[in-house]
Amino acid sequence: MDTKKTRILVVDDDELLRSLSFDILSEEYEVMEAFDGQDAWEKAQSWKPALVVTDLMMPRMHGLELCSLLKGPKGIPGIKIIVTSSKSYDADMEQAKKAGADCYIVKSSDTGKLLSGVRKLLSERDVSIAPQDIFSSKKADLFKPVFQFSNTRQPEAEGLKVRFWGTRGSCPCPGANTVRYGGNTACIEVRAGKLLIILECGTGIRELGARLMKEFDGNPIEGHIFVGHTHWDHIQGFPFFVPLYSSKNSFNIYSVRGAHGSFQSIFSGSMASDYFPIPLGGMNGKINFVEMSGPMDIGGARVSYRHLNHPGLCIGFRIETRGKVITYIGDHEVFSRLSGDNEISRHQDAEILDFARGSDILIREAQYTEEEYAKKKGMGAQHF
Ligand SMILES: [Zn+2]
Repeated sequence: MDTKKTRILVVDDDELLRSLSFDILSEEYEVMEAFDGQDAWEKAQSWKPALVVTDLMMPRMHGLELCSLLKGPKGIPGIKIIVTSSKSYDADMEQAKKAGADCYIVKSSDTGKLLSGVRKLLSERDVSIAPQDIFSSKKADLFKPVFQFSNTRQPEAEGLKVRFWGTRGSCPCPGANTVRYGGNTACIEVRAGKLLIILECGTGIRELGARLMKEFDGNPIEGHIFVGHTHWDHIQGFPFFVPLYSSKNSFNIYSVRGAHGSFQSIFSGSMASDYFPIPLGGMNGKINFVEMSGPMDIGGARVSYRHLNHPGLCIGFRIETRGKVITYIGDHEVFSRLSGDNEISRHQDAEILDFARGSDILIREAQYTEEEYAKKKGMGAQHF
């Protein structure tokens, strides 16, 4: 076979990592570059590559959605897909496989691994997912602590207020030991004048809802809820957010598309009759689910997002309003702590730092002590 004519589409929003893949593969194959999932989907339909090598965490369209499209009814018959990601969690491998990936390779500066993976995949008819450099340990502890915030004060800057209604990860933990920061799971209120932004729908949102009902006293409430990811501790307060039940109130709810379907379907699934007495459709408020594909401009604020290093899809938010910047990086394991100190992990960590650069307030977890982190490595959370 003349491999020089075999077409490979390399997809990565990171120019450095994309060019590393391009350079190594273009010696043997015809290679085209795409800047993110959306760009790749458009190029793949006309160029029809035999193989797509794609990153997972990208703006506009993430790699899982791209996999689903390429292998779906409108996709390209026979196409092979390699997912390359800095994320080494079992959950991401499983999601990639379910979305249609043929192989999953953890990014490293050793590009020879990618080349050998490509050669193998293109020479075999059926290659089941063949992870390389993956942490294979199973995570039995479903109730992992995720994060807690270290500050419950309300910083104020030119009409800007931030209030923490829930600071815990995993599950609510009321009791004498959690009085200082409260026992509710993640929920943060950001006010910029009349603009209401809520980060996460953990159980803290229930008390926020009660406060809003009292404050607005029957007048319409409009709000924007941003959800970093849909693990329980970030959505379990949603059905208890009372303002959603009044037809006077309007809420936009933002995140990225789910790994295997719409973002809205995750919420409606969590309120199915087996789990909750009232379905999503039984909430009378005007609820609009928005799948983000780039920054959102809402009422004088710009909210952008970036994918984080956490099992499954997970994003952080950067809110720019009134000349101030608030960055929320909830669940994120520093790449170089998880994968070791190397060129790729340093580069990925620098990207996260850039995302948070210039923040007036950086909201970050501080879950583990150094000793605890040694035992909890690979669970998607961070040490002090
Ligand atoms: Zn999580």
